[in-house]
Amino acid sequence: MNPYLGLVSSLRAAWLTGKTRTAEHRISQLEALGRFLDDKKQPILDAMASDMRKPRLEAELSEVMLVKNEVNYALNNLCSWMKDEFVVKNLVTQLDTAFIRKEPHGVVLIIGPWNYPLHLILVPLVGAIAAGNCVIIKPSEISSSTEKLVAEVLPSYLDKDCFAVVTGGPTETTQLLENKFDYIFFTGNPQVGKIVMAAAATHLTPLTLELGGKNPCYVADESDMQNVANRLVWGRCFNAGQTCVAPDYVLCSAETQEKLLPALRHAITQFFGPDPRESPDFARIISDKQFQRIRALLGSGRVAIGGQTDEKERYIAPTVLVDVQPSEPAMQEEIFGPVLPIVTVPNVDEAIAFINSRERPLVVYVFAADSKLVHRVLERTSSGGFGANDPIMHMTLLSLPFGGIGNSGLGSYHGKFSFDTFSHHRACLLRSMGLETMNSLRYPPYSERKMGL
Ligand code: NAD
Repeated sequence: MNPYLGLVSSLRAAWLTGKTRTAEHRISQLEALGRFLDDKKQPILDAMASDMRKPRLEAELSEVMLVKNEVNYALNNLCSWMKDEFVVKNLVTQLDTAFIRKEPHGVVLIIGPWNYPLHLILVPLVGAIAAGNCVIIKPSEISSSTEKLVAEVLPSYLDKDCFAVVTGGPTETTQLLENKFDYIFFTGNPQVGKIVMAAAATHLTPLTLELGGKNPCYVADESDMQNVANRLVWGRCFNAGQTCVAPDYVLCSAETQEKLLPALRHAITQFFGPDPRESPDFARIISDKQFQRIRALLGSGRVAIGGQTDEKERYIAPTVLVDVQPSEPAMQEEIFGPVLPIVTVPNVDEAIAFINSRERPLVVYVFAADSKLVHRVLERTSSGGFGANDPIMHMTLLSLPFGGIGNSGLGSYHGKFSFDTFSHHRACLLRSMGLETMNSLRYPPYSERKMGL
């Protein structure tokens, strides 16, 4: 028998009682989630430090504050989101009531990755609670300290009948996925995304896939190179590059590369000092497996900046690679580490052609003072999101949907988009029993007179 059948059945029983549908229950659970973040801030930061030496400020911003913003935003807007949406009617339904009811899906599964181990399970959880669902959370087993904290502490804040945490890796996730859920929300890599989608297909379960890929960053010739370099190094080195929306590689002309390299070197030294290994503000790679994978990428092209590694500490220095061929490993797989390859292209049209010859990324970035050039790249490429002159920041806006397209994902969330993702939009028409004479026009027999109407 499937080891999770009992758990899923008990959550389904709680779901059928209807208690998660009430505004009071949703609000109480969102407030409890907010309390968890406040009360357990220090253990959360400690767990992140233990998992990947995540710097305190980075953890506070990305794992606590952004989640707290989502909780507060949902609490402030929940009542208006929950309201029925009355819609335009046609001639024959003028006297009736037509509306969209936002209903919870039911029992939802949220599967998270290790790189932002709390954010990427709790931000979806905010949407799932706000929409009135029961939820099973499956954090990543790789970020084991955070997994332990979530499994041991979070359930004591939430209604245990309706919310549960399951721990474990691929084996446990596979067993969990054999059960029927009403919605699945997965964040991880595209290969595992295909496995999750195949499992969902056996039950025809709808799902969101938040996946990864290579985010290109085109740097135009006339840019202010030091500003560009500061922002690129910040985006590439935040969480030691283990960020799905980090700029993955740079496309620019050979002349721009010559100006960009000293600016990148300067930014790295300014941020992390002469030896970034000594900096408290630079994280480590999550696991030996990831360390070895990223270290192997340093063999692509030529190391222009950095390149130092320390296996014992799982340290990889902020690194810039040049002369990288598009066929080399650093340009074939998502880097997911503090390594930035530069590929030279003669002009923006070649950069656009390069981007369009590859899988659609989670984000396309462009650095350019010329807004016409920014719009040219925007109009002629396709990606989940788009950022001009700064990486990552677009995802901090709760008013923008966050998600991928094609190989980088399916669906979106954040703010109201999360509520909509975790809701079924039920089409409702409440007719009156009157006006039967008008209705009779559509009943058989279909006389010549009716056909002429
Ligand atoms: P992953 O796909 O290896 O793991 C994600 C989850 O799936 C984990 O909980 C894991 O236990 C489970 N899992 C792993 N292999 C499985 C299998 N064979 N069968 C069933 N379940 C399995 O991803 P990861 O390494 O934890 O995270 C890194 C990836 O996630 C990168 O590709 C990154 O770009 C992507 N990511 C995307 C976003 C986004 O919002 N789009 C955010 C963060 C990370």
